[in-house]
Amino acid sequence: TTQLMAGKRGLIMGLANDKSIAWGIAKACAEQGAELAFSYQGDALLKRVQPLAQQLGSDLVVPCDVGDEASIDALFEALKERWGTLDFIVHAIGFSDKNELRGRYVDTSRGNFAMSMDISVYSFTAVVQRAEKMMTNGGSCLTLSYYGAEKVMPHYNVMGVAKAALEASVQYLAEDLGKDGIRVNAISAGPIKTLAASGIGDFRYIMKWNEYNSPLRRNVTTEDVGKAALFLLSDLGSGTTGENLHVDAGYHVVGMKAVDAPDM
Ligand code: NAD
Repeated sequence: TTQLMAGKRGLIMGLANDKSIAWGIAKACAEQGAELAFSYQGDALLKRVQPLAQQLGSDLVVPCDVGDEASIDALFEALKERWGTLDFIVHAIGFSDKNELRGRYVDTSRGNFAMSMDISVYSFTAVVQRAEKMMTNGGSCLTLSYYGAEKVMPHYNVMGVAKAALEASVQYLAEDLGKDGIRVNAISAGPIKTLAASGIGDFRYIMKWNEYNSPLRRNVTTEDVGKAALFLLSDLGSGTTGENLHVDAGYHVVGMKAVDAPDM
């Protein structure tokens, strides 16, 4: 049987450690024959990211701070030099001051609002802008969102507003690039215990609530997200663009606490 990602080259952005959603996606892609490059933010992460990349047979590990245009350009220059063309990108990046991921949304500061939107929303557009030029045979671009974009979730605050803007930008990007055979999608993942998630207030409670109340009565794993990503990044997703695919054990369809959920 031929592998789903055989002959495809892709960039994975947002790998911090083996708990990262980016790691679940990278493993799924590599298992299906993809050739991978990784970008990481800041020197401190290189010693974590490099051995993980190596595990998946990749030595293309490039620094990139998505807040810096020159840094994004340098990343894509490196990819162009090595590969020439590109088939897919995964953007698994988000950031906000964790002091504003608790308490009330209304208290969000102008500075952190702008920074959260810049790093968590605009960066995807900035990256797709560069990737488009290298996707001469079509391509697939994927970002990560959360249900806090659609409904109010405790403590998610400015990140909910940012994810709403991210999901809207997925739709606009899908329209712009569809003519060139480039698909743009998001996965709305259920809560997973990662470095970024640990900054969110009461995260353990949110995890428990989802476990008790989602139709599958469990939380999702980075492997679950990896498998859905494989669909969107491979030819299996050839008819799907502008989509926000929920990988959340079904939580987004629930309107009320489950009758069998324990009190908490
Ligand atoms: P993570 O901490 O493993 O990954 C976040 C990544 O963002 C890190 O690798 C970090 O280096 C990177 N990053 C932050 N600022 C950056 C910058 N300026 N330049 C480059 N990289 C930068 O956490 P994760 O949970 O795997 O997060 C990945 C994505 O998934 C995020 O967009 C997050 O919002 C989203 N998401 C997470 C959950 C969850 O519960 N963990 C649920 C839904 C969506």
